[in-house]
Amino acid sequence: CAKDRGRNQVCFFEQDMHAAAQERLALLQDLKSAVDNDALLTYAQPQVDAAGQLIGAELLLRWPHPQRGFVPPAQFIPVAEQAGLIVRMGARVIQQACATLAELHQQGRALSISVNVSPRQFRQADFVEQVRAALHSTGAPAALLTLEVTESLLVENWQDTARRMHELVALGVRFSIDDFGTGYSSLAYLKRLPLYELKIDRSFVQDAPSDANDAAIVQAILSVARHLRLRVVAEGVETRQQADFLIAHHCHGLQGYLFGLPQPLRDWLAGLKG
Ligand code: C2E
Ligand code: MG
Ligand code: MG
Ligand code: MG
Repeated sequence: CAKDRGRNQVCFFEQDMHAAAQERLALLQDLKSAVDNDALLTYAQPQVDAAGQLIGAELLLRWPHPQRGFVPPAQFIPVAEQAGLIVRMGARVIQQACATLAELHQQGRALSISVNVSPRQFRQADFVEQVRAALHSTGAPAALLTLEVTESLLVENWQDTARRMHELVALGVRFSIDDFGTGYSSLAYLKRLPLYELKIDRSFVQDAPSDANDAAIVQAILSVARHLRLRVVAEGVETRQQADFLIAHHCHGLQGYLFGLPQPLRDWLAGLKG
């Protein structure tokens, strides 16, 4: 490398970048083969209402890597998103969600199923058609399918996003803004988009009610939602104290370890019958 210290730092930096890029590439190759071999697992985490009654579940992907063990979604979802692999992964989750809804419907259970939809997936030319086909082929009740999107989707191509959302809502499905309050978008979109629900991010729930700032943010979100007639689900509810605080401020749905860990979708379904 170079003689002076500044140059050296640049060299180390480049080496780090190189290592990180290689690591990403290795992860992507393994992920590709996991998708090809249908090795990704779908988990379900229950959602309950204020009375503790089960109202539905969110589907979450899990990747059991043969050498690394379970790779956290926070690591593999961004890689899949960047490489476009998320499109296939997401389509499969939607298909599973619809099959699950149809199965629940046949059992006479009106439970909702939420799926995470990444920006790349949402922007696919045939995304609306994909959802329509999944609903149609399974006979799932569309109104019980909730598509969770993040505010990042709303920052770009606003008009396209809004138009597509309206097309999907016309199919009967519902939209939820995931990790609400953590993005960079303006609140103006709340009144212009056909939304059904807001999900309060875990980071705000975590320290409420003991942290006065987080408590204030949670209350503000619930108040905005009430005035806009949006439903609210809190994520990451771990303690009874958090749940009581949320319920006292009229939060409709609660999701978190206090009420149930994510578990394999099949196990969750089997548990409903017991
Ligand atoms: P998310 O959609 O906000 O999901 C909630 C995350 O919080 C999940 O993390 C869940 O396991 C975790 N969680 C739930 N309750 C608690 C709790 O009480 N305490 C704590 N500490 N955590 C809790 P997970 O499963 O690691 O997923 C992380 C993120 O990965 C998800 O955040 C979602 O953005 C993304 N993701 C997962 N599955 C999919 C998928 O099928 N498609 C897409 N596009 N993204 C996905
Ligand atoms: Mg989510
Ligand atoms: Mg979330
Ligand atoms: Mg979150």
